Amino acid sequence: MKKDHNQVWTNCLEIIKDNVSPQGYKTWFEPIKPVRLEDSVLTIQVPSQFFYEWLEEHYVTLLKKIIRKELGAEGRLEYSIIMENNSNASPYTIKVPTSNRKAVKNAVVTMPLDMGESPIKNPFIIPGLRKMQVDSNLNPNYSFDNFVEGDSNRLARSAGFAVANKPGGTAFNPLLIYGGVGLGKTHLAHAIGIEIKNKYEDKTVLYVSSEKFTHQFIDAVKNNSVNDFTHFYQMIDVLIIDDVQFFSGKEKTQDVFFHIFNHLHQTGKQIIITSDKPPVEMQGMEQRLLSRFKWGLSADLQVPSLETRIAILKKKMYADGIELPEEVVEYLGYSITSNVRELEGALISLIAQSSLNKKAITLDLAKQMIDKFVKNTAREVSIDYIQKVVCDYFDLPIELLKSKTRKREIVQARQIAMYFAKKMTKSSLASIGAHCGGKDHATVLHACRTVNNLQETDKHFRKYLDDLEKKLSIA
Ligand code: ADP
Ligand code: MG
Repeated sequence: MKKDHNQVWTNCLEIIKDNVSPQGYKTWFEPIKPVRLEDSVLTIQVPSQFFYEWLEEHYVTLLKKIIRKELGAEGRLEYSIIMENNSNASPYTIKVPTSNRKAVKNAVVTMPLDMGESPIKNPFIIPGLRKMQVDSNLNPNYSFDNFVEGDSNRLARSAGFAVANKPGGTAFNPLLIYGGVGLGKTHLAHAIGIEIKNKYEDKTVLYVSSEKFTHQFIDAVKNNSVNDFTHFYQMIDVLIIDDVQFFSGKEKTQDVFFHIFNHLHQTGKQIIITSDKPPVEMQGMEQRLLSRFKWGLSADLQVPSLETRIAILKKKMYADGIELPEEVVEYLGYSITSNVRELEGALISLIAQSSLNKKAITLDLAKQMIDKFVKNTAREVSIDYIQKVVCDYFDLPIELLKSKTRKREIVQARQIAMYFAKKMTKSSLASIGAHCGGKDHATVLHACRTVNNLQETDKHFRKYLDDLEKKLSIA
């Protein structure tokens, strides 16, 4: 009897479950999907390159044994990897002969990427169906439910929600969502698409990265099928184009997109665009396209506040059934300030670390891990974190430090926080002052002088500073 990939993988999972920790199982094996089984080669789909490398690094022996047991000596395992940062891109496959560890490394380095698994195969050669069956390319995890609302995203989120309620029927057409890396543009764009699909089953929603759009267009030119390409896109009810800045300098692509845009807009279809910049700052874009982008609403996503960062972490933990000590969650929220993707990455690495080393997740582990994790991004401690450490040390409520109060012990703690902020961050005096009770730059300068004087003359005071400095230096 021919074996089926689901059955084989289910058998594998049973053995894996007995051999790895429950957390490890949950983190590294539950997300895997078996894809196919052909000629004793089992293909499994993993969420990212990192994931694949982790499996290879830590579980290869186990996997090898299990595959042998299930599929015999010929048995092999292949990974199909969903491309990161781009949930719409086709997965690519890395062929890993599990029976030969040596070849594994080679395979990883030299295997050409197999791009042949696009969810829509030649999307614009769909034969004359009356209602198109288009795979929307939406990631169900990127829903509104999973999107934490905060000041940093309120406008974009509510505009997105309005659009989802009445696609094509609001003034927000196009809706342009812009903001820096990892701030939730792709997530929000998917959320809108998902919500529309929930409310309007019949609407054809399509999420596509501008990169993929460009490649499809280039292929269409090669194959003489530009008309089919254009036609396909003009039949979409809700078109979501992610990272439109990728069109910059690509005149032909901009041109074809311009015509598609006009057609959709004129026929009352909804267009949603994301970009890393607002239209005024987009370079290498045709003026007529830019002016269209400004027709609707441009809403930005900003760096989330500390509260929002912590809320995002908690939401993610809840969804994944993870529990972490409060101080660890706070530490992550305080330390990783620039980008939600990094924040999530840190959380995942932390869980992975602890499950593999069978160590409890403590503040120390978090510190070590963050140190490694963010080492390339020249991380600096944040003013928020300095304030927290200083307040914890003196056992003062942080609100007081940030307030205008002139109580003596608060003033001193505040001065110390300012001193460390000056010393350990690149923030300007003005911005340090703004964080510490709305003081001006002269006050911050005065604080730094006072602290310097005191540490030369007062032994106890110097001890405070040494202690604090140790707590703040992460190494
Ligand atoms: P961008 O497209 O702006 O680079 P993404 O949409 O890919 O960013 O977001 C990066 C990660 O952060 C995703 O996993 C996303 O789910 C998560 N994320 C971003 N903002 C939020 C939010 N407000 N609530 C929950 N998760 C968020
Ligand atoms: Mg994105």
